[in-house]
Amino acid sequence: MPRTATPPAPTPTSRRRTSASVVLRSVLEHGPVARSTIARLTGLSPASVTDYCSRFTELGLIRESEAPRQSQGVGRPHVPVDLDDSRFVVGGVHVAVPYTTVTLLDLRGRVVAVRELRHEGTDASSILARAADGLAALLERSPRLRCLGVGFAAGGWVDRDSGTVVEHPLLGWHEVPVRELLGARTGLPVHVDGHARALVNAERLFGRARGSRSVLHLFVGNVVDAAFATNDEVHHGPRSQAGAIAHLPVPGGTEPCDCGRTGCLQAELSERTLCRRARRAGVTDGVNPMHVLTAAAAGDPAALRLLLERAHAVGRAARLLLDVLNPETVVVTEIGILHREDCLVALREGVGGDRAPSVVPSSFPDSVLAVAGGSVALDVLYRDPLAASPEAI
Ligand SMILES: [Zn+2]
Repeated sequence: MPRTATPPAPTPTSRRRTSASVVLRSVLEHGPVARSTIARLTGLSPASVTDYCSRFTELGLIRESEAPRQSQGVGRPHVPVDLDDSRFVVGGVHVAVPYTTVTLLDLRGRVVAVRELRHEGTDASSILARAADGLAALLERSPRLRCLGVGFAAGGWVDRDSGTVVEHPLLGWHEVPVRELLGARTGLPVHVDGHARALVNAERLFGRARGSRSVLHLFVGNVVDAAFATNDEVHHGPRSQAGAIAHLPVPGGTEPCDCGRTGCLQAELSERTLCRRARRAGVTDGVNPMHVLTAAAAGDPAALRLLLERAHAVGRAARLLLDVLNPETVVVTEIGILHREDCLVALREGVGGDRAPSVVPSSFPDSVLAVAGGSVALDVLYRDPLAASPEAI
């Protein structure tokens, strides 16, 4: 698909962590919390915290969490404030190979509504149009909720700044202007990112990596990719190419890869490969990796062996990345590891050594794709709440 417009320049202000961001994040992480406590935790002046809280209350992003018993003067610094999760949602669109997940998330990153839309082809315009219509249908069913914006996530090479899927080989997408197409169809601000980075943001904001100074997310689905965040910033690199690990060589790998080599990480570990091996072993005759899990749960030893081998190989891949980047926490999204304790054990054996305990499964085992899309928009909100809040749209 040709690019139909020059992408707007990146907006540096929305990348900067503002005082407003620090205050709203503090309410997210500690709420209900007194304004005086926020001031203490953040190092901002009490007057400044009170100002931001008044602003967020006016906008409907936060509220006092209990009625004051008596007037304690302007600002009432000891009355706790908390997120107001009753008014606003963000939309999420996650495009995987066989289907799109559309979702509404509240300000705490919780799934309010979700729907899966199976693809009828891989044409980008029609997939995005159906996603926009799916979101509109979810919003129609919740007329009290106002949508602040839409987050889009997909595997492959996704450029946040231009809002483009640059290259998604499995879907055959090339230079798809997602922000423009979804924005035109929804009439809402649209934010676009790669799903491994989206999930790093979800883990930082709402999951296990909260408080970690550095976190690596390793996503192993049909697409295999990684994202890395330090000090609250996800690394993108030029045109958001960071995290492309699909063609890292796996020692001892045997799967031929589209790139012409053998044993590339994505070719070895993708769900397609898992399903093909499962078909060969007589575990399943389909292409749904969940069927391999179901078979393992029913006691099929071949299914279990395939899952354990895959988890162990994911562990070896995590080890490579740990050695290069040395993050405090590694979060892994992979179906076996998300659902089976023995796969988590195999993963950690694959990692080996004293770093194994720092490798953890995703915080969102049942909603990882639903959370991914919406988290792109929530990250923008928490990064610069006054620019992304209801008054601004
Ligand atoms: Zn390759």
